[in-house]
Amino acid sequence: MASHTTSHNPDELTAGHCGLRIGIDIGGTKIEAVLVAPDGTIVATDRIPARRGNDQVVEDVVSIARSVAGEHFESVLSVGIGIPGQVDCATGRIAHVVNLDIDTLELGALAGKQLGLPVHVENDVNAAAVGAAHVLAGTDMSGTIVFLNFGTGLAAGIVDNGTLLHGYSGAIGEIGHVPVDPNQFECPCGQRGCLETVCSGASVGRLWPKANPPMPGLITAAHLGDMEAQRVLAMVTHAIVDTVQMVAQAYDPKLIIFGGGMAKTGQPLIDVTLEELARREAHCPFLKGLHLADRLRLAPAAEPLGALGAAWAAASI
Ligand SMILES: [Zn+2]
Repeated sequence: MASHTTSHNPDELTAGHCGLRIGIDIGGTKIEAVLVAPDGTIVATDRIPARRGNDQVVEDVVSIARSVAGEHFESVLSVGIGIPGQVDCATGRIAHVVNLDIDTLELGALAGKQLGLPVHVENDVNAAAVGAAHVLAGTDMSGTIVFLNFGTGLAAGIVDNGTLLHGYSGAIGEIGHVPVDPNQFECPCGQRGCLETVCSGASVGRLWPKANPPMPGLITAAHLGDMEAQRVLAMVTHAIVDTVQMVAQAYDPKLIIFGGGMAKTGQPLIDVTLEELARREAHCPFLKGLHLADRLRLAPAAEPLGALGAAWAAASI
């Protein structure tokens, strides 16, 4: 039996409360769950270590859903799950979750059957996008919000008037593998110059192995006058702003949220991005007129965005 780290806030909840939602974020090392009230308030959280394998993942989802809801389980309307890998959100089928040793798994159907509830599964970046959009935009979900996940890889989640966009094949937002970077590094996907070979968390770690986490160390070294750090930082910020421009000019979003592990760098990451953006704006009135600097936000690091977003995404189906 996994050890649960549960927190309930009974003051937020009265007995017989209806319309609760469960959100579950499955990562490579841990599973986080939240119980969300209709107004979006998190009334309970739970966390367990992640285990590998199909049966274990289904078992852990069922277990954490029951534990986070506790005595309120009967009032739960739906369960949302965010998980890495390929997700068919119409069927809840997942594929190629390498970190969890999953080839294919009917996660939505199997968990739904055991819980007796509708279970909606999303890709983890999409789930975090919904979570971040709700936390930063509040009740006004009008317009388009783009969430850029600077994690091991680079991908975007796009929320349009409160609803996730999935595209024709479910591959919307896979901008990490657009091969536009002039350094032309080889990418495991088979192409060269993919954006994520330069501006994902893993790539910055490869380009600047002298610090861990690499991005804050890289920025500090560059600011202290280290010329190699300045060269690497210029390369990284160039790719970041290429990414920002790509989503900004394709979607004209009201907010562009920086999330994922690299966003934990905080304001210095936004600052170096704004410096590169300002360099480009200096000789491009068109770009300057888009006021992209006003639209950049950091994902709130303290919130369980993936679990929260999974709950919201399930609620909007
Ligand atoms: Zn690639």
